[in-house]
Amino acid sequence: MTLRIPFDNTYAALPGQFHSKLPPQAVKAPRLVTFNEDLARILGITPGDTAEMAEVFGGNRVPDGADPLAQLYSGHQFGTYNPQLGDGRAILLGETVGTDGKRRDIQLKGSGRTPYSRGGDGRAWLGPVLREYVVSEAMHALGIPTTRALAAAETGETVWREGGLPGAVLTRVAASHLRVGTFQVFAARGDKASLRQLTDYAIARHYPEAEGPMGLLSAVRDAQAELIAAWMAVGFIHGVMNTDNFSISGETIDYGPCAFMDVYHPHTVFSSIDRGRRYAYANQPSIAVWNLAQLATALIQQLDDPQDGVAQATEIVHAMPERTEAAWLARFRAKLGITSAQEGDLELVTALLQLMAENQCDFTNTFRALAEGTARDQFTGPAAFDAWAEGWQARLEGEPDPHAVMRRANPAFIPRNHRIEDMIAAAVAGDYTLFHRLNDVLARPYDDQPEHADLQRPPLPEEVVQATFCG
Ligand code: AMP
Ligand code: MG
Ligand code: MG
Repeated sequence: MTLRIPFDNTYAALPGQFHSKLPPQAVKAPRLVTFNEDLARILGITPGDTAEMAEVFGGNRVPDGADPLAQLYSGHQFGTYNPQLGDGRAILLGETVGTDGKRRDIQLKGSGRTPYSRGGDGRAWLGPVLREYVVSEAMHALGIPTTRALAAAETGETVWREGGLPGAVLTRVAASHLRVGTFQVFAARGDKASLRQLTDYAIARHYPEAEGPMGLLSAVRDAQAELIAAWMAVGFIHGVMNTDNFSISGETIDYGPCAFMDVYHPHTVFSSIDRGRRYAYANQPSIAVWNLAQLATALIQQLDDPQDGVAQATEIVHAMPERTEAAWLARFRAKLGITSAQEGDLELVTALLQLMAENQCDFTNTFRALAEGTARDQFTGPAAFDAWAEGWQARLEGEPDPHAVMRRANPAFIPRNHRIEDMIAAAVAGDYTLFHRLNDVLARPYDDQPEHADLQRPPLPEEVVQATFCG
């Protein structure tokens, strides 16, 4: 069978200032690790034989209909503006319109150097590729907007990081790769025409009902407020919420140093490069506002007089905390089995979180145990939990089916850091068993899967992952 990807490319049709056209760089010995058939079906892709797919998803052959390019963007990294970033190790092959009518990008990541590589090698090693594969697919199964993983391929080449490591390429699928930084680069250049063109493109592609730059800003705000609330509800820490990793579509993008918390603490950070703890768990809602403000600043540059947009843009940005908090509260209510809204709900949730922090509770298992009636066991000081639970039980009076609500809101399975590390170590040694098992189990994160209880267990002290890396 021959691989067929029904490309229908629009980004490649934008003028030259938006991208650099070039193919992926060929690799020595591409080997297909995995191919996501369910996702391929949605994209309208006809799979080919393994050797052919290794050639395409390793970057050695440009498939028919692709128009490969690297996208230009800039962005604030840890608060400091970098005037030129861009796809330094990624190639957009093109877009498809899926069987669900949705347009999506198909991008190779780790596919070699581009004009935007700066000092980088353009490559990725196997660890981060498998990590992104597992975690992004898990996020999708959790019901959280995210880029997805279509394929992973080994390159047969060595990538040099701390030492020599096996190279790999991930095929990433996204609603688009437009990000705040895509707007920032043209705003910083004072290129109003390109900003206007990009704004029209983003509206047509993601928010056709939005009107003008301020309509786009409001739509991104709402999508991102929902997204951040969804992250908070599963204990997800993105780790590198730079403006170049803040998507216009409202999807989670860039699984570099991300991690799910085991023990709950609001100040948790995993990323080795986040020394100022800028992207700690509890900072994510306010960082999102900061990022939205950068988008606002960029968008108003397209107005004939940017001052005209300041008041409206400020109002839109200032409304974000309220939106995020409302989305957050709705999610945490559901985590407690509550479907209605009452005064005092916020206090009920924050009191539990406070107790969880004091008792060093496992975030995922404690919420799941609420549904099972065993949460008390998660607390080193159960008396304080009992006192809280009295108020909680009273609040549940009249709720139709808290048990079912909680089971839908509180996953049994998350991709735990120590299991991801185990999985990577095994794969580097040539054993992909755990990689495939994680994908299978995490595809149904809300189901009890007693035969996989080992994947629910928090890390033992010696298993705790202290830091994550960008790769
Ligand atoms: P990130 O922190 O992953 O969002 O990446 C920030 C920028 O660094 C983007 O422009 C990436 O394309 C670029 N980059 C990251 N790793 C590499 C690499 N190994 N080679 C070239 N560019 C890279
Ligand atoms: Mg990035
Ligand atoms: Mg990255």
